[in-house]
Amino acid sequence: MPEFEAVIGLETHIQLNTQSKIFCGCKADSWEDEANTNICPVCTGLPGVLPVLNRNVVESAVLLAAAMQADSIQPLSYFARKNYFYPDLPKGYQISQYDEPLARGGFLQLPLPDGGTRLVTIEKLHIEEDAGKTIYQNDRRLIDFNRCGVPLVEMVTGPDLRTADEVAQYLIRLRQLLRWLGISEGDMERGQIRCDANVSIRPAGSKVLNQKTEIKNVNSIENVRMAVKAEIDRQIREVTSGHTIEAWTLQWDEDGGSLRKMRSKETEADYRYFREPDLLPIVLDEEWLAEILVRLPELPLARRERFVEQYNLPLYDAEILTEERGFSEYFEDVVSIVGDDAKTVSNWLINDVQRMIRELGVAPGDLKLRPVHLAKIIQMVQEKAITTSTGKDLLMKVEQSGQSPEQLVADLGLAQVSDEDVLREVAAKIIAENPEQVKTYQDGKVTILGWFVGQIMRETKGKANPQKVQSILEDLLAE
Ligand code: ZN
Ligand code: MN
Repeated sequence: MPEFEAVIGLETHIQLNTQSKIFCGCKADSWEDEANTNICPVCTGLPGVLPVLNRNVVESAVLLAAAMQADSIQPLSYFARKNYFYPDLPKGYQISQYDEPLARGGFLQLPLPDGGTRLVTIEKLHIEEDAGKTIYQNDRRLIDFNRCGVPLVEMVTGPDLRTADEVAQYLIRLRQLLRWLGISEGDMERGQIRCDANVSIRPAGSKVLNQKTEIKNVNSIENVRMAVKAEIDRQIREVTSGHTIEAWTLQWDEDGGSLRKMRSKETEADYRYFREPDLLPIVLDEEWLAEILVRLPELPLARRERFVEQYNLPLYDAEILTEERGFSEYFEDVVSIVGDDAKTVSNWLINDVQRMIRELGVAPGDLKLRPVHLAKIIQMVQEKAITTSTGKDLLMKVEQSGQSPEQLVADLGLAQVSDEDVLREVAAKIIAENPEQVKTYQDGKVTILGWFVGQIMRETKGKANPQKVQSILEDLLAE
């Protein structure tokens, strides 16, 4: 039996988070709104209206193309009408781009576990309007036009992906990039990324492209992964039992975890594309392009690499710190105050601050615990003004009160107790109260010292200097 490899290409539609729609002033994001409340004559295609292009849509798409290192961002690109009849498409056509898209070429980088990357080529990138939403309710079809005219970027990859896991990786990295650029929330469950996967198989090592099938509109990364995996397995079963693959369009059934055959799809010729007569071409002159590109930030993988080199961090730390742009900026703000000990800062962020961010469900930039506060807490621990455990408690106290750590330490009396006499007194009391444990220690089981330290920490509410406590205990127990 020959070994097979899969050849997978993705077509993704990305919903941009502009304020208004692509060709009218209606609000673009109506996820939480009642059906048919964000509509107007333009986006519902009434006769006699004219579309007006939203500049922000072009700018977001150009940023994405630049982040994909597009070979060419076109100085001149055109809109085209894609004609088809469907109830949620009131004009009878979608305004899209066809033969002259906004950008061609480029790639998305998938990081490999060894720190290297694999390139997934992008064939083209264009902007278009979304259609409405059809909702099936019992025997009725309900149409919501709110989504008509919401701006989309459509991006097509080359047939470069080989496994279902790589497909999931691609979507995870794409989502990271969209959020990083601030142009989309990239939430698949809300349809902000919609993904169609073209899947075929061939004997491993072969260069041919065989008949492919298309899996339509799956709505989470995990479901895309499962659907692609199921389709690869199905094709291998078909081919090894002597059948041929037909050009089906497939629908993933989430509940049953299986693929269902849909009606065959229109071919490109069925759409009768022609240039959109109601819109001028997009003229992206050098000045406008330069203005947009100023906003292109350092990208996630480049920042990850820089963190490893500049701060001498393990790849693991750098990866977590750069998962999200705001988190990576928070990290650098703290390091710039604390100074050279970047690994300590990274530990605090990854172990403690990230947990807090998840629990509270806030963006790093919205924390009341500002970088200057975290830096101060780390410094107080380093200077032994407070214990590590007090420092950790302080994180949430600062977040909840909005007060500075110094103020809280003073008000709540949290300063570390290093005073010999005070600590000796507490230690003597604990020793007097626990003769049995003292005997155990003196009989040679010195590991019980940790238990004594714990008792003293409890007595002092975690404020005792642990090193001092240890040496005082050794002292007293030896007597
Ligand atoms: Zn409108
Ligand atoms: Mn499209």
